[in-house]
Amino acid sequence: KALPIDKTMRPGSRKVPGACFSLVKPTPVENPKLVVMSQSAMKLLDIDENSGTTQEFEEYFSGNKTLPGSETAAHCYCGHQFGSFSGQLGDGAAIYLGEIANSRGENWEFQLKGAGPTPYSRSSDGRKVLRSSIREFLCSEAMQHLGIPTTRAGTLVTSDSLITRDMFYDGWPRREKCSLVLRIAPTFLRFGSFEICKPMDLMTGREGPSVGKIEILRQLLDYSIKTFYRQIMEIQSKETQYLKFYEEVCVRTARLVAQWQCVGFCHGVLNTDNMSILGLTIDYGPFGFMDRYDPDFVCNSSDQNGRYTYKKQPEICHWNLKKFAEALKELVPLDRSLQVLGDVYYREFNSTYLSKMRKKFGLKRKEEEDDELIRDFLQTMQETFADFTNSFRNLSSLSLPGCSDYDETKEKFLDASLANCASLEVAKVALKPQFDPQQLDALKKMVAENPRFLDVIGGADGPIKKEIEKVEKYQKLEEIDENELKSLNRAKWISWLDKYEARLHKECGDIDDVSMHDVIRRKEMNLNNPKYILRNYIAQNAIEESERGNHLEVQNVLRRLEHPYDETASPLFGFQNILYNALPPLDKI
Ligand code: AMP
Ligand code: MG
Ligand code: MG
Repeated sequence: KALPIDKTMRPGSRKVPGACFSLVKPTPVENPKLVVMSQSAMKLLDIDENSGTTQEFEEYFSGNKTLPGSETAAHCYCGHQFGSFSGQLGDGAAIYLGEIANSRGENWEFQLKGAGPTPYSRSSDGRKVLRSSIREFLCSEAMQHLGIPTTRAGTLVTSDSLITRDMFYDGWPRREKCSLVLRIAPTFLRFGSFEICKPMDLMTGREGPSVGKIEILRQLLDYSIKTFYRQIMEIQSKETQYLKFYEEVCVRTARLVAQWQCVGFCHGVLNTDNMSILGLTIDYGPFGFMDRYDPDFVCNSSDQNGRYTYKKQPEICHWNLKKFAEALKELVPLDRSLQVLGDVYYREFNSTYLSKMRKKFGLKRKEEEDDELIRDFLQTMQETFADFTNSFRNLSSLSLPGCSDYDETKEKFLDASLANCASLEVAKVALKPQFDPQQLDALKKMVAENPRFLDVIGGADGPIKKEIEKVEKYQKLEEIDENELKSLNRAKWISWLDKYEARLHKECGDIDDVSMHDVIRRKEMNLNNPKYILRNYIAQNAIEESERGNHLEVQNVLRRLEHPYDETASPLFGFQNILYNALPPLDKI
């Protein structure tokens, strides 16, 4: 209520100038059914399973009934999507139910995603299907339990109301169930919330609905500082307050993306409208945790140019922060905010990344060579097509060189490392070229004749260069058999292990009881290298079960991901005896 509200109550898509929110009601669905609930998320709202009957949960968290005191609304924002400014976006599918002050004195906003049309739905219907809702629900909670800042998911409700998303599924339009996720966060404000006040974009000619409205920008900044960064209010000058706020957002964003990199998480749609001002992971769409390590991993099939690859996430978030600075420039001189960005972003990213990586490798001391050791590890994974999560987890199977069982654990480490590498068959699938050999030869010839050809299509890091490299690797694989691949991989892991061993000797340096120290060290490593992440095929399997009406698997996956670092829990936890840390089967890579 501290920010401008449009009270027109007209749901139709339209420009909404001068407002940060529009009052709008969720559209009811038929026969709502609760699929899964996160107890720990609902606790934030002081709600537990005994707070109501299942039917009540289904009615309130489908949007069919309004909670007492709730005034529902959609938020207006803008954004840079895939690099260009797109004017008014806003909550096209999410509707705020309100805010709860809980018994611990915390404030939590909560909203329903998939609640039907709002003034910001543009040409779409404001609905979400079961598959995207399951993915958002599970990943929000998985992130939370990994210890990575995120919006939360409280409930997932599906229904008998149907919509069509996929027009060509098995040759026919596919009717899917409207489903809703209850999302919870201190705030859903994002960079794009501030971009609505930006002066007209000179490149695109597009403007935000509140173009040049410095007054709204000021209100947004004051509200955000007062509510989420209270300590900043002590600063006397407003301009310095705003600058400090910007700095805090830079710091949190840098830390967030560093944490993503350390678990192999790829967001997929890092547009400025999906960048939280609290440094939360926000908007789970085509995200993906990597299985096999590939720095060029793209999880969003509509991202053909690879703008949002795993490797590029840090620089993309930096770019987004620059756009955020531009949105604030009427109140914070751009040279000052860009100076702050330059001073803090990579400093914070690098220190968070390195310190997390040291924990993952079980390194207490700081050595110059650590950076290189980490890069070599990543490269070894890449060259051997090794699984990101399991390769890191396996690090703790190795004891310190001073321990009596070191040689034994070294053999075990190598065996497990090889088990985490892809088989020849899988490696070939991973490198499957898009081009046939003739097309490739033609391309190579063009590049040889005119090297500038590559610049036109993305340069040394572009898709064509990558494809040529891929095919060359693929051709090498065609010349060897499974055993040869194994021994090549083994040699690569041994070579890395030599460097790690040398580094670990330094760790033992001044310790009296190495074995005792090592027990603790390996336990700590296991608290930094998750055993369970939300693998794509695990999510997909849960989705397929739910689409058949069996929601047990989603519930099982949630329970599993609530303890991502747990070694002791039964491996046969799941409904279908799924080993949730297993590599994806060949047909699901
Ligand atoms: P995203 O790419 O998910 O960040 O969404 C970009 C914009 O599209 C946001 O303004 C969303 O609110 C809007 N949007 C996404 N899905 C829908 C939908 N099903 N109906 C209406 N608007 C949507
Ligand atoms: Mg979004
Ligand atoms: Mg989305």
